Amino acid sequence: MPHIRTQAYILSRTPLTESSWIVCLLTRQEGKLRAVAKGARRTKSPFRGAMEPMNLVEVEVSLREGRELCSLLSADLEEGAMDLFGTWPAAGTLLAVAEVLERGLAEHSAEEETFRLVGAVLKGLREGASADLAWVYFAAWFLRLHGMLGRPDRCGVCGESKPVAHFDAGAGGWVCAGCMRGRPEQGVSVSEKSRAALEQIFRSPLAGLIAPAVPSDALKDLKSMVYLALVGYLGKPLSCGAALQ
Ligand SMILES: [Zn+2]
Repeated sequence: MPHIRTQAYILSRTPLTESSWIVCLLTRQEGKLRAVAKGARRTKSPFRGAMEPMNLVEVEVSLREGRELCSLLSADLEEGAMDLFGTWPAAGTLLAVAEVLERGLAEHSAEEETFRLVGAVLKGLREGASADLAWVYFAAWFLRLHGMLGRPDRCGVCGESKPVAHFDAGAGGWVCAGCMRGRPEQGVSVSEKSRAALEQIFRSPLAGLIAPAVPSDALKDLKSMVYLALVGYLGKPLSCGAALQ
Protein backbone atom coordinates (compact mmCIF):
# COMPACT_ATOMS: atom_id res chain seq x y z
CA MET A 1 0.00 0.00 0.00
CA PRO A 2 1.83 3.14 -1.11
CA HIS A 3 1.78 5.98 1.37
CA ILE A 4 2.39 9.61 0.66
CA ARG A 5 3.08 12.45 3.04
CA THR A 6 2.28 15.84 1.56
CA GLN A 7 0.78 19.25 2.25
CA ALA A 8 -2.91 19.64 1.41
CA TYR A 9 -5.82 22.06 1.59
CA ILE A 10 -9.10 20.72 2.93
CA LEU A 11 -11.77 21.44 0.28
CA SER A 12 -14.79 19.79 1.84
CA ARG A 13 -15.94 17.02 4.11
CA THR A 14 -19.09 14.94 4.05
CA PRO A 15 -20.31 12.44 6.65
CA LEU A 16 -19.67 8.81 5.68
CA THR A 17 -20.73 7.09 8.90
CA GLU A 18 -21.55 8.33 12.38
CA SER A 19 -17.85 8.52 13.15
CA SER A 20 -16.15 9.14 9.79
CA TRP A 21 -15.86 11.82 7.15
CA ILE A 22 -15.01 11.66 3.49
CA VAL A 23 -12.69 14.60 2.94
CA CYS A 24 -11.79 16.12 -0.38
CA LEU A 25 -8.18 17.35 -0.43
CA LEU A 26 -6.05 19.35 -2.81
CA THR A 27 -2.63 17.85 -2.17
CA ARG A 28 0.63 19.33 -3.38
CA GLN A 29 1.95 16.00 -4.61
CA GLU A 30 -1.08 14.14 -6.01
CA GLY A 31 -3.58 16.89 -6.84
CA LYS A 32 -7.16 16.32 -5.78
CA LEU A 33 -7.90 13.24 -3.66
CA ARG A 34 -10.86 11.94 -1.72
CA ALA A 35 -10.04 10.11 1.45
CA VAL A 36 -11.85 8.44 4.32
CA ALA A 37 -10.98 10.00 7.69
CA LYS A 38 -11.91 7.19 10.05
CA GLY A 39 -13.11 8.30 13.45
CA ALA A 40 -12.73 11.97 12.52
CA ARG A 41 -16.21 12.84 13.80
CA ARG A 42 -15.48 11.51 17.29
CA THR A 43 -14.72 14.08 19.95
CA LYS A 44 -11.38 12.45 20.74
CA SER A 45 -10.32 12.10 17.10
CA PRO A 46 -6.67 12.81 16.28
CA PHE A 47 -7.97 14.77 13.25
CA ARG A 48 -9.97 17.11 15.45
CA GLY A 49 -9.52 20.76 14.50
CA ALA A 50 -7.67 19.97 11.27
CA MET A 51 -10.63 19.18 9.03
CA GLU A 52 -12.02 22.69 8.53
CA PRO A 53 -12.38 24.06 4.98
CA MET A 54 -9.27 25.65 3.41
CA ASN A 55 -7.04 24.63 6.31
CA LEU A 56 -3.50 23.83 5.24
CA VAL A 57 -2.54 20.47 6.72
CA GLU A 58 0.24 17.96 6.39
CA VAL A 59 -1.38 14.66 5.60
CA GLU A 60 -0.36 11.06 5.35
CA VAL A 61 -2.53 9.19 2.91
CA SER A 62 -2.59 5.59 1.85
CA LEU A 63 -3.43 5.15 -1.83
CA ARG A 64 -5.12 1.88 -2.54
CA GLU A 65 -4.65 0.48 -6.03
CA GLY A 66 -7.90 0.39 -7.97
CA ARG A 67 -9.90 2.07 -5.24
CA GLU A 68 -11.38 5.48 -5.70
CA LEU A 69 -11.17 6.44 -2.03
CA CYS A 70 -7.89 6.77 -0.16
CA SER A 71 -7.43 6.49 3.60
CA LEU A 72 -6.35 9.46 5.61
CA LEU A 73 -3.85 8.21 8.18
CA SER A 74 -2.90 11.51 9.79
CA ALA A 75 -3.52 15.23 9.36
CA ASP A 76 -1.51 17.87 11.21
CA LEU A 77 -2.66 21.44 11.02
CA GLU A 78 -0.07 23.81 9.52
CA GLU A 79 -2.21 26.91 9.01
CA GLY A 80 -5.88 27.27 9.85
CA ALA A 81 -8.24 29.37 7.72
CA MET A 82 -10.86 30.03 10.40
CA ASP A 83 -9.73 33.67 10.70
CA LEU A 84 -10.71 34.28 7.05
CA PHE A 85 -14.18 32.79 7.49
CA GLY A 86 -14.99 35.51 9.99
CA THR A 87 -16.46 37.92 7.44
CA TRP A 88 -19.06 36.96 4.86
CA PRO A 89 -17.42 38.34 1.69
CA ALA A 90 -14.15 36.49 2.37
CA ALA A 91 -15.99 33.33 3.45
CA GLY A 92 -18.07 33.47 0.24
CA THR A 93 -14.94 33.73 -1.88
CA LEU A 94 -13.27 30.80 -0.09
CA LEU A 95 -16.34 28.58 -0.41
CA ALA A 96 -16.46 29.34 -4.13
CA VAL A 97 -12.72 28.63 -4.48
CA ALA A 98 -13.20 25.26 -2.75
CA GLU A 99 -16.18 24.45 -4.98
CA VAL A 100 -14.29 25.26 -8.21
CA LEU A 101 -11.35 23.11 -7.10
CA GLU A 102 -13.53 20.22 -6.04
CA ARG A 103 -15.62 20.22 -9.21
CA GLY A 104 -13.03 21.44 -11.70
CA LEU A 105 -10.04 19.18 -11.03
CA ALA A 106 -9.52 15.55 -11.95
CA GLU A 107 -8.46 13.21 -9.14
CA HIS A 108 -4.83 12.05 -8.88
CA SER A 109 -3.60 14.64 -11.33
CA ALA A 110 -0.74 16.77 -9.94
CA GLU A 111 -1.67 20.44 -9.75
CA GLU A 112 1.38 22.14 -8.24
CA GLU A 113 0.55 25.55 -9.77
CA THR A 114 -3.06 25.40 -8.64
CA PHE A 115 -1.88 24.40 -5.17
CA ARG A 116 0.38 27.47 -5.07
CA LEU A 117 -2.47 29.65 -6.39
CA VAL A 118 -4.59 28.71 -3.36
CA GLY A 119 -1.74 29.75 -1.06
CA ALA A 120 -1.44 33.07 -2.90
CA VAL A 121 -5.17 33.75 -2.53
CA LEU A 122 -5.15 33.00 1.23
CA LYS A 123 -2.05 35.16 1.71
CA GLY A 124 -3.59 38.03 -0.29
CA LEU A 125 -6.77 37.93 1.79
CA ARG A 126 -4.71 38.01 5.00
CA GLU A 127 -2.77 40.99 3.66
CA GLY A 128 -5.96 42.96 3.06
CA ALA A 129 -7.04 42.20 -0.54
CA SER A 130 -10.81 42.55 -0.95
CA ALA A 131 -12.88 39.38 -1.26
CA ASP A 132 -14.01 40.40 -4.78
CA LEU A 133 -10.48 40.98 -5.97
CA ALA A 134 -9.30 37.70 -4.42
CA TRP A 135 -12.11 35.88 -6.23
CA VAL A 136 -11.30 37.42 -9.64
CA TYR A 137 -7.59 36.77 -9.09
CA PHE A 138 -8.23 33.12 -8.26
CA ALA A 139 -10.72 32.57 -11.09
CA ALA A 140 -8.61 34.30 -13.76
CA TRP A 141 -5.50 32.31 -12.82
CA PHE A 142 -7.42 29.06 -12.50
CA LEU A 143 -8.87 29.57 -15.99
CA ARG A 144 -5.49 30.49 -17.45
CA LEU A 145 -3.74 27.51 -15.84
CA HIS A 146 -6.39 25.24 -17.38
CA GLY A 147 -6.19 26.75 -20.86
CA MET A 148 -9.52 28.59 -20.70
CA LEU A 149 -8.40 32.19 -20.66
CA GLY A 150 -5.95 33.46 -23.25
CA ARG A 151 -4.79 37.04 -23.77
CA PRO A 152 -7.16 39.55 -25.38
CA ASP A 153 -4.73 40.13 -28.25
CA ARG A 154 -5.92 37.44 -30.64
CA CYS A 155 -9.38 36.41 -31.84
CA GLY A 156 -10.16 32.80 -30.94
CA VAL A 157 -12.46 32.42 -33.98
CA CYS A 158 -10.51 33.87 -36.96
CA GLY A 159 -7.11 33.69 -35.26
CA GLU A 160 -6.16 37.24 -36.21
CA SER A 161 -3.80 39.11 -33.85
CA LYS A 162 -5.41 42.36 -32.71
CA PRO A 163 -6.92 43.79 -29.53
CA VAL A 164 -10.16 41.91 -28.85
CA ALA A 165 -12.92 43.31 -26.63
CA HIS A 166 -15.50 40.56 -26.40
CA PHE A 167 -15.29 37.37 -24.36
CA ASP A 168 -17.53 34.40 -25.07
CA ALA A 169 -16.55 31.15 -23.35
CA GLY A 170 -18.85 29.18 -25.69
CA ALA A 171 -17.02 30.53 -28.77
CA GLY A 172 -13.60 29.61 -27.40
CA GLY A 173 -12.74 32.81 -25.56
CA TRP A 174 -11.93 36.20 -27.09
CA VAL A 175 -13.91 37.09 -30.22
CA CYS A 176 -13.15 40.09 -32.48
CA ALA A 177 -15.78 42.58 -33.69
CA GLY A 178 -15.73 41.11 -37.21
CA CYS A 179 -16.42 37.58 -35.99
CA MET A 180 -19.07 38.91 -33.57
CA ARG A 181 -21.14 40.19 -36.52
CA GLY A 182 -24.04 37.91 -37.24
CA ARG A 183 -23.52 35.91 -34.07
CA PRO A 184 -26.19 35.92 -31.40
CA GLU A 185 -25.27 38.28 -28.58
CA GLN A 186 -23.51 36.03 -26.08
CA GLY A 187 -20.68 36.49 -23.63
CA VAL A 188 -19.61 39.87 -22.29
CA SER A 189 -17.90 43.00 -23.53
CA VAL A 190 -14.70 43.73 -21.69
CA SER A 191 -13.61 47.37 -21.80
CA GLU A 192 -10.05 48.43 -22.48
CA LYS A 193 -9.75 49.48 -18.84
CA SER A 194 -10.90 46.05 -17.68
CA ARG A 195 -8.52 44.28 -20.06
CA ALA A 196 -5.67 46.38 -18.66
CA ALA A 197 -6.76 45.40 -15.14
CA LEU A 198 -6.76 41.72 -16.18
CA GLU A 199 -3.18 42.13 -17.42
CA GLN A 200 -2.24 43.58 -14.02
CA ILE A 201 -3.81 40.57 -12.30
CA PHE A 202 -1.45 38.30 -14.23
CA ARG A 203 1.54 40.47 -13.39
CA SER A 204 1.28 41.26 -9.68
CA PRO A 205 0.86 39.34 -6.47
CA LEU A 206 -2.68 39.68 -5.12
CA ALA A 207 -1.77 41.89 -2.18
CA GLY A 208 -0.03 44.35 -4.52
CA LEU A 209 -3.18 44.80 -6.63
CA ILE A 210 -4.88 47.76 -5.07
CA ALA A 211 -6.82 50.50 -6.86
CA PRO A 212 -5.95 52.11 -9.27
CA ALA A 213 -4.40 48.89 -10.72
CA VAL A 214 -7.84 47.28 -10.63
CA PRO A 215 -10.56 49.98 -10.44
CA SER A 216 -13.94 48.92 -9.09
CA ASP A 217 -15.80 49.16 -12.44
CA ALA A 218 -13.13 47.00 -14.09
CA LEU A 219 -13.42 44.50 -11.25
CA LYS A 220 -17.18 44.28 -11.85
CA ASP A 221 -16.62 43.58 -15.57
CA LEU A 222 -14.02 40.93 -14.82
CA LYS A 223 -16.25 39.30 -12.23
CA SER A 224 -18.93 38.69 -14.87
CA MET A 225 -16.33 37.48 -17.35
CA VAL A 226 -14.67 34.92 -15.07
CA TYR A 227 -18.04 33.72 -13.81
CA LEU A 228 -19.27 32.97 -17.35
CA ALA A 229 -15.99 31.30 -18.22
CA LEU A 230 -16.10 29.14 -15.08
CA VAL A 231 -19.67 28.06 -15.71
CA GLY A 232 -18.54 27.08 -19.23
CA TYR A 233 -15.61 25.13 -17.79
CA LEU A 234 -17.57 23.39 -15.02
CA GLY A 235 -20.64 22.74 -17.16
CA LYS A 236 -23.11 24.24 -14.71
CA PRO A 237 -23.49 27.23 -12.41
CA LEU A 238 -21.67 27.42 -9.10
CA SER A 239 -23.93 26.63 -6.17
CA CYS A 240 -22.64 29.68 -4.33
CA GLY A 241 -22.77 31.71 -7.53
CA ALA A 242 -25.32 34.39 -6.70
CA ALA A 243 -22.82 36.37 -4.67
CA LEU A 244 -20.21 36.20 -7.41
CA GLN A 245 -21.96 37.43 -10.55
ZN1 LIG B 1 -12.14 37.19 -35.42
